Amino acid sequence: MKITLDEAAKIIGDAQTIILTSHIRPDGDSIGSTLGLMHFLRAQGKDARVLIDDEIPRIFSVLPGIDQIARPVEGQRCTADLLIVCDVELKRTGAVVSSVDAVRVLNIDHHVTNDEAAEYLYLNPDYAATCEIVHDLIRVMGGAFSLETATCLYTGMATDTGFFRFSNTTPHTMRAAADFLEVGVQQSKIAIAMEMKSYDEVMAQANAIRNVEMFCGGRVAAVFIDEMRAKEVTTTEGLLDALRVIEGTQIVFFMKWLAPDTYRVSMRSKGANVSRIAQRFDGGGHIRAAGCTILAPFDAAKQAILDAIGEELNC
Ligand code: AMP
Ligand code: MN
Ligand code: MN
Repeated sequence: MKITLDEAAKIIGDAQTIILTSHIRPDGDSIGSTLGLMHFLRAQGKDARVLIDDEIPRIFSVLPGIDQIARPVEGQRCTADLLIVCDVELKRTGAVVSSVDAVRVLNIDHHVTNDEAAEYLYLNPDYAATCEIVHDLIRVMGGAFSLETATCLYTGMATDTGFFRFSNTTPHTMRAAADFLEVGVQQSKIAIAMEMKSYDEVMAQANAIRNVEMFCGGRVAAVFIDEMRAKEVTTTEGLLDALRVIEGTQIVFFMKWLAPDTYRVSMRSKGANVSRIAQRFDGGGHIRAAGCTILAPFDAAKQAILDAIGEELNC
């Protein structure tokens, strides 16, 4: 059921024990929104903690409280008054939703493709990041931004907007970011941390870019990472930023081996609706940034995604 921000604030206010979670393969917005809200709720005297069912990439070690994020333990159940699922619909949280017995479940998201399966959903697809929603939520709850909260929320807004360059950046995004800078967020430290890669990761990514393939008369640029190369290309962070600068591209994407006959596709566009393409494969996202998982052998998966993109672009 869709609810208003005031109703979401009331549900949170009524709860004492709160578990926060987000999507697997966590990014800046998923970690920033859960951790930022956790710090705020603790300051309100609540028992709040974050559970994420995946490894946390080491670039996020600059975020205060990052070492307090736990993974659900198999066979171990948790109870809470409230489970808050941020930046994703319930089904992409790994084992968290099934291992938490919560009286209520609140979903806070900005993905237009959200399946609306949650008991309570506050959805704002006009916002660039879930952290931007959490900014407003804290305001509605009458709270102030501590440096810890602000650092986490700033990071999520920065990563989901390509450091305030993508078209999802609005005056509200900039005002919220300004609120965070005002309490002392060190934005350059965050920018440096988010871009950090090991030497090996840089070399692997350079190799991946060297293998870029062009389609649709230059309107599509793609990198395909098979099982063998997936072992070297341990991070894809920044890969699509390198492809999108290629002149004439409308859609850029990579397809990377995850498990046998399982490939992750991550797409970016300059206007074409890639979330519609992702939804064909049961994925989702935003118009200009979306992803999905394709269950097929390498060649078939490659053909399937190229066919779907070709239909979208009429090429
Ligand atoms: P990514 O390419 O992984 O950075 O994701 C781009 C956008 O698409 C993000 O907003 C993701 O939350 C969303 N997304 C990526 N993969 C999936 C998926 N398998 N299902 C639903 N949404 C996804
Ligand atoms: Mn996310
Ligand atoms: Mn997000």
